[in-house]
Amino acid sequence: MPGRNFLFVPGPTNVPERVLRAMDRAMEDHRSSAFPDLATGLFRDLKQVFQTTSGQPFIFPATGTGGWEAALVNTLSPGDRLLAPRYGQFSHLWIDLAQRHGMRVDIIDVDWGEGAPADRIEAILSQDRQHEIKGVLIVHNETATGVTSDLGAVRKAIDAAQHPALLYVDGVSSIGSIDFRMDEWKVDLAVTGSQKGLMLPAGLGIVCASPKALAAREQAKCPRVFFDFGDMIKANATGYFPYTPSIPMLYGLRESLGIILEESLEAIFARHHRLAEGVRAAVRAWGLKLCAKAPKWYSNTVSAIMVPEGKNAGTVIDVAFRRYNLALGAGLARLGGKLFRIGHLGDLNELMLLGAIAGAEMAMRDVGIQVTPGSGVAAAAEYYRSTAAPLAERPAAPPASDAVPAPSGRASPRTAVRA
Ligand SMILES: *Cc1c(COP(=O)(O)O)cnc(C)c1O
Repeated sequence: MPGRNFLFVPGPTNVPERVLRAMDRAMEDHRSSAFPDLATGLFRDLKQVFQTTSGQPFIFPATGTGGWEAALVNTLSPGDRLLAPRYGQFSHLWIDLAQRHGMRVDIIDVDWGEGAPADRIEAILSQDRQHEIKGVLIVHNETATGVTSDLGAVRKAIDAAQHPALLYVDGVSSIGSIDFRMDEWKVDLAVTGSQKGLMLPAGLGIVCASPKALAAREQAKCPRVFFDFGDMIKANATGYFPYTPSIPMLYGLRESLGIILEESLEAIFARHHRLAEGVRAAVRAWGLKLCAKAPKWYSNTVSAIMVPEGKNAGTVIDVAFRRYNLALGAGLARLGGKLFRIGHLGDLNELMLLGAIAGAEMAMRDVGIQVTPGSGVAAAAEYYRSTAAPLAERPAAPPASDAVPAPSGRASPRTAVRA
């Protein structure tokens, strides 16, 4: 099919040209004297993305699922009790992983479409006077339902109960796209993957551990080899890895962290909010509902859009793909057929999203969903026009993503981009 595929699943996301070019390189010796420069810079810049100074990042050749496992097995023992709200397929899968490692999970079932219930977490932790619960698992952005939880409120709940449980956060579809403050919210283990906000292919599971989490390793009896923090700490201290790292992925990460820090986290969070608001304006104009039950739960990285009763969202996704070369996300587990998802995270802008909104609108009409032609596109376009930055604030030079990359393939410093 000519033209570009419109990739709007909430991961993998579009990989910027700059990152693709940075990854396209010959292999090298990962034990050479030159190698540590690369790794050391990655750890330094990852800390900025996690918004931590005291946390320690780990990069595993894995995916987000590997990150979940690394966070748990390094800090817990089989039989340990955990507390976890469940409000979508990703919170469900993380709980399942913990259970398969022999952990006992107290599950708080929440309606799919809502997020972490801070009040119930506080009540349960307050009752746990013996401090049997070792950790609280929270999915920051539930990608299955398009719901973002209030991590600040969860932290307050744990503190109010004066409970020492570790706070484990899945930030796979939030970190680098939605404000995530590891230090301020005293997150002990933060997990992400490479193929969402970091704009890379799948292939890295990244975990950041607080000093309290690192100390918990002493008591943690889960067997661990590939995911052992201890082996990583030893090798990473000198800029190496305990086994062969994926070199293209590391150069890709080098470039994507450069892009993120050039735009700035603050600007990235604002961009994701604005792009998401345009999608939500389109959904309202279509007369459809989001899976997220209230505005306080709305996700700025993914919108899960319910199709009317009696219609199958699966056919919308199939038509969009085969007829318009547009990839939309499917409903997962119990939401199968009930909704489709538009991922709006990573390397994207207004007009890319208008393409996705137009394609979704066309595919819905094709399968007999009575949305007014052009209504979603018009609502989003007018929202983007009315909220666009004044021209005076726009650079006259081409935007950073069009700039020529530094010859080394490393991140171009800001000044080089401007020049
Ligand atoms: C994508 C995703 C994951 C991890 O998935 P992998 O396929 O293992 O990378 C975990 N949690 C959330 C919230 C996600 O969006």
